[in-house]
Amino acid sequence: MVERGLLIVLSGPSGVGKGTVRQALFSQEDTDFEYSISVTTRKPRQGERNGFDYFFKTREEFEEMIAQNKLLEWAEYVGNYYGTPVDYVEQTLQNGKDVFLEIEVQGALQVRNAFPEGLFIFLAPPSLSELKNRIVTRGTETNALIENRMKTAKIEIEMMDAYDYVVENDNVERACERIKAIVLAEHLKRERVAPRYKKMLEVE
Ligand code: 5GP
Repeated sequence: MVERGLLIVLSGPSGVGKGTVRQALFSQEDTDFEYSISVTTRKPRQGERNGFDYFFKTREEFEEMIAQNKLLEWAEYVGNYYGTPVDYVEQTLQNGKDVFLEIEVQGALQVRNAFPEGLFIFLAPPSLSELKNRIVTRGTETNALIENRMKTAKIEIEMMDAYDYVVENDNVERACERIKAIVLAEHLKRERVAPRYKKMLEVE
C-alpha cells in the first residue's frame, strides 16, 4: 500500500503574498507537491487560464458543486465563491502525493476540521503597513476594496492560532525555503517513519 500523502495548507491574510509564494514554490524544480486548482466564480484576470489558474464557474455551477458535496471547503470572499474540489485532493493523497492548497482563512479552518492531520502553515506579513503597501501597489483594487481587505486582514491575523507553523513573508525565496523545510520535517516525523521500519522487520 502506498503511504498517504500530506495535505499542506498555506493560508494567511489577504495581500500577504500567498499567490506569489505559491507560484514561486511551483516554479522550483525540487518542489514535490501537487497544487490543487481551486474553483471560483470570480472573473479571470488578464493572463489567467481556465483549468490552470482556476476552474472558472458561474454561481449556479458553484452552488451545484456545494449541493453535491464536491468541495472539501468553500468560502465567499469579497463577493465571489472560492472552493477546493474534494475528489482531486482525496485521489492525490491516496496516490501518495502531497497536496498543496493555497486558500483564504475561512476555508483553511474548514479543512482543519475535515483533515486535522493536515499541515497548516500561516503566511504572515512582516507588518500591517507593509501589507497595505502591497495591496495598494498591486493596483488592481479600488479604495473601498482595499479598506475592506485591510479590515479582513486584521481579523485574519488573530486567526494564527489555528495553524501549526507561521512563516513570515519578508522575502519570497526565504518563505519558500521555510515552507519546504517544514514539509520535509513533517515527512520525517517519527509517527510517519516508524511504521515503515516496523514493516521492514516483519518482512525479514
Ligand atoms: P484571488 O481572487 O486574488 O485569486 O484570490 C483571493 C483569495 O482567495 C486568496 O486569499 C486565495 O488564497 C483565496 N483562494 C483561492 N482559492 C481558494 C479556495 O479554493 N478556497 C478558499 N477558501 N480560498 C481560496
